[in-house]
Parts: sequence; structure tokens; C-alpha cells
Amino acid sequence: MATEETRGKTRQFKAEVQHLLDIVIHSLYTDHEIFIRELISNAADALEKVRHLTLTQQDVFDRDLPLEIRIETDKESGTFAISDTGIGMTEEEASRNLGTIAHSGSREFLQTLKEGGEIDAELIGQFGVGFYSAFMVADRVTVTTRAADPEAEGVRWSSTGAGKYTVKTEEIPHRGTKIQLALKEDRKEYAESDTVKGIIKRYSNFVPFPIFVDGEQVNTVQALWTKNKNELTDEDYKGFYQFVANANDEPMYRLHFNADAPLALRAILFVPGSNFEKFGLGKMEPGVSLYCKKVLIQAEAEELLPDYLRFIKGVVDSEDLPLNISRETMQDSALIAKLKRVLTKRVIKMLAGEAEAGKETYDTFFKEFGMFLKEGAATDFENREQLSRLLRYPSSKTERDELTSLEEYVSRMPENQKEIYYISGANRTAIESGPYIEAFRDRGIEVLYGYDHADDFVFSHLREYDGKPLRSADQANIDLPETDESASDEDKPEALPEKEAGDLARWIKEKLGDAVQEVRTTKRLTRSPAALVNPDDIMTTGMQRVMQALNKEGEMSIGNMILEVNPAHPILKNLNDLREGKGDEDLADAGCRLLLDNATVTAGLTVDSRAMVERSNKMLERALAGLKAE
Ligand code: ADP
Ligand code: MG
Repeated sequence: MATEETRGKTRQFKAEVQHLLDIVIHSLYTDHEIFIRELISNAADALEKVRHLTLTQQDVFDRDLPLEIRIETDKESGTFAISDTGIGMTEEEASRNLGTIAHSGSREFLQTLKEGGEIDAELIGQFGVGFYSAFMVADRVTVTTRAADPEAEGVRWSSTGAGKYTVKTEEIPHRGTKIQLALKEDRKEYAESDTVKGIIKRYSNFVPFPIFVDGEQVNTVQALWTKNKNELTDEDYKGFYQFVANANDEPMYRLHFNADAPLALRAILFVPGSNFEKFGLGKMEPGVSLYCKKVLIQAEAEELLPDYLRFIKGVVDSEDLPLNISRETMQDSALIAKLKRVLTKRVIKMLAGEAEAGKETYDTFFKEFGMFLKEGAATDFENREQLSRLLRYPSSKTERDELTSLEEYVSRMPENQKEIYYISGANRTAIESGPYIEAFRDRGIEVLYGYDHADDFVFSHLREYDGKPLRSADQANIDLPETDESASDEDKPEALPEKEAGDLARWIKEKLGDAVQEVRTTKRLTRSPAALVNPDDIMTTGMQRVMQALNKEGEMSIGNMILEVNPAHPILKNLNDLREGKGDEDLADAGCRLLLDNATVTAGLTVDSRAMVERSNKMLERALAGLKAE
């Protein structure tokens, strides 16, 4: 007797597919019910494609077949079968689509798993490996399919998920795809029609094609975006979001609007509950699909929103678009460009409204998705102003996790403060224990904190807010205004006289040579002996850090920075004694170098630790010897 494997051609899964299958079959025990949602979503995709085809092309096989999804369950034989009248697959397509990993997203998914990332069944759909979820519940999966091309032959594809699959041609009377699952012994619940109906109601209620389970229709077929807002409930939106985003969570925000000018459009857009990109899973794909009069023109189209709004999910329907617009023509279509402008502005306006409506939710949103808005503020010149209003930062005047807007910052500025200050660092503790904000703190002047690598770049691209220049607090030429909170001169410890301090600075520079560009005295520091600052308005210490990180092998150069020294600090006073010959040369050299080393470390920059330890041991030796002598 011929087995499935001996009839037709037997092929090997690509190694990466097998690896994925092993994970799917053996590790994803929870949530196996999502296989239903994944297979329905594939059927719906196939139906959308054929609907588009029948509207734009002549030769479509079974043109008048109703577009629908049918599920048959059989308790006796323990089977589950789903069929659709969609676009189907040719033999070549079946081998490619079901036997290799074609999507870049799937590779990223695998990569995450290889790196020991968490395995979450929810991710399966996000990364385009949904078909394989059938193997979570089935011992054997058999696909019979016939493509919409009138010339195509029918195909039978079958596999147990272990290493091999078979394909062969077969007479199939109608267009579409049928996927039959021989359920595993402990997954027979999916042969019960009530169980299956319940799952469909939960996950797939908004699929825009009728779904029948054992002959009975279970979903509400409707294009939600053609309805009026007041006809829809929160539950409707949530269900629709879960369908379009292929997600399980709740949307954070939603935007449902119609417009007539400059072009007719209806849209429902969502901000998801969480940001997958945050976990380092690679760049998100765009999430808004384009429809024309309820016909899908392009799923998850790239041209509808700018790159930085790739986290938005939803649908847009415009009846002004030609149905046969292709991926290529979309790129230079004036209509699409118009659509993109309108959508971008509406999304930004929606976010501004939400920021106004509730600080707490908005801050939660910003902590999750703020990285995208920062990207936008730095790159979208046209909407920069509005985007900068959406930014939030912790600051020297906020408590722990609390965020502030630039607008609030400006409202707190003393009258004679003309600039907005920011500083980047790993976290609040790192920033507040460093030297840069001392002078600001002493005067009660607020500084925004940036914890992302990108923050310095964003601020330097923004340049100003509300007419006030944005300045990094570690720049050299900052002239801080005196405020009510400034300490009076009497409270300050006495500094070296100006001339002597100047001589000291020159002497230190001589000792340091090319290690820094310049050494000079400053009144800015109170507690710290010295700080490294940046000579121009472009470079910041944060950028230096990024450059040091990129330049792993190379020099850890800070040669373009300025060392500012505090002439009122005891270390500087003692160095001045050394300069005047009270002590030996060796000690003076090591002292100056260590001053620079310490300033480098507090700036978050890297030093040659071996040399630093040597110098600091030398100092320690001297200090301890001194103690003994006394
Ligand atoms: P995705 O849906 O993200 O593309 P899947 O693993 O779910 O990833 O499906 C892989 C591919 O198999 C699909 O892109 C599609 O080309 C093909 N496919 C799956 N199911 C069907 C179906 N019912 N009809 C036609 N093609 C299908
Ligand atoms: Mg899929």
C-alpha cells in the first residue's frame, strides 16, 4: 500500500523551517488555539487577493464562486478542516510558501529564539510563520489547493512536520485552498464545533468574509470603517484592532475619522498596547492596509505613513484611488502622497489630543512608543513643530519616572533664562552624580535628561523649541543666568586669584599635552574639581560616547574636548602648590593625569584603565607614605 510519502514528490524542509517547526511543536504548549486565528487569517488574505484579482483581471478561474471560509469538524475521526475560495497556490507556490521561510520577519523571529529570547505563541502571527502553528495541534497537515490562474493544476501538499513534506498534482474541481488537520490525541477538542465557534468569536469576528462552522455562519461580516462612530462599541473596536493587528492585547489609542477633502477617505487607526520593536526584535513592518471601496488594495502598505509611524495599525479606505494601483505606482502616486500627508497630520493631532486629555495614559504611551516620535521630530521637517510638542522627558525637576513636556519646561523658566538645557546619560543617578548639572542645580535651572543614545541627535536636529535654542549642558560656552536661587559670592569657597588660576590651567595643559584641546578655569563647577566639555555647539558628550563605542579598536580619544577646572577646589589648590615647586615633578604629572581620568570617567567616557590604575596606585602610595610620616 502506498503511503502519503511514497506518492508524489518528497522534499526536505529547509533547515530553518525544521528548526522553527520543532520549536512550534515542542515548546509552544500554551495558547495552541491561536492556530485557528492564523489559518483563518491566511484564508482571509487569500480571499482579499482573489477579490482584487477579479476586479482587475479577466482570466480568473471560478470567477463567480462566493468568497467565504468554511470549517468542518468531525469528532468521530478527530479532524478539523478549513477551506477558502481564495487565490489558491500552484505547485511551485505551495513548495515555496509552505516549505521555506520567505519572510524577513520570520528570520528575525528565529534569530530571537536562537538568542534565547522568550517564546510567546502570540509572536507567531506577528512574524509571518502562522501556517506552521497548525503543527501545534495536528499529527498531519494536508493542503489541497487550486490557484486562480485558469491554467493551473490542483496540488496536494502533506506533512507530519518532521523533516519532509510531499507535493503532487491532483484534480481539484474548484478554486481555493483546503487545509485538513488530523488532530493529535490530546488536541481533539478542536474537533468540537462549539469550541471552534467560541474561538472564532473571540479572535476572528471581524474577518470581512463569512466564516461557516459545520454549515452555520459565526462571524459578523462588516467593513467596520464604513459605519458611523456612534454605531460602534469599545468591544467592536477592540475586536477589530485584534483582527487588523493580529494581536491579543487592547489598543492604547484609536482614531476613527472620515474626510472629504482633499480626498475622500475613511480610516480606523490604532496605537497598539505594546511596542514589539522595544524588545530588539528588529524593525517593525508598517501596519496600515489600504482599501478602495472595501476591496483590499495593499496590505500593510509602506507609503501610507512615514517610517516613524510604523507602529500604527489599521485600515484606510479611499474611493478616489484606482483599483489597479500597484506597489510600484503607489510610490510615485500624487494621490498616495496626499493621503500620507492627511493621515500623518491626523495621527499627530490625535496624539496631541490624547496628551491633553490624560497625562498618565499619555506618559505610558510615550514610554512605550516615544522612540518613534523622537525619530519623527528629528526627520519629519514638515511636522517637526507639532512633533516636538509631543515629546516628553524626565528632568532635574521631575520625580523619578515622571516626564515633562518642553512646553511645561518653558513655563518654568526664569525670565532671564534664554535657552533650554538638556544632558544625556545612562540614567538619573549617572547624570546627577556627574559634574555637568552642578551649575544648573546651584541656580535652580532645570535640565532635561535623555537616557536614549538617540536623544542628543534628536535635540541637535530640533535645535530650538518655541524660539528658544536647545543646548547640551556639557557645552563649553554656556553663560548661565543668575537666578533667585543662585548662591551669593560669600557662600562660595574662596578660589585661587585669577592670574594664578590662569597660570595653573596653562601648566596643566602642558602636562597633558595633546590629550585635551584646552584647559581652562570655570566658575561653573562647585563640588567637582573638573569636567570635560565640548567646544562647539554640535558635539555632545553623549555623541562622544556613541563614537567611542563604535570605534572599539581605535583610540579612546577625547583630544577635541576641553577640560574645565574649578579653581576653588582643594585638589586644584594643591596642584597649584605643586606647580610652585612644593613637591616633585612625578607627583605633579600623575595628579594632572588623574584629574583628567576622573573627569573622563564622570563624563561616561572610557579611559585606558591600565594606565589609570598605575597612576592612581602611585598617588595612593604617596598618600599612605605621607600618613605614616605624620
Ligand atoms: P503569512 O500569512 O504571514 O504570509 P503564513 O505562515 O501564515 O505567513 O503563511 C505562509 C504563506 O503561505 C502565505 O504568505 C501564503 O502565500 C501561503 N498561504 C497560506 N495559507 C494560504 C491559503 N489559505 N491560501 C493561499 N495561500 C496560503
Ligand atoms: Mg499568516
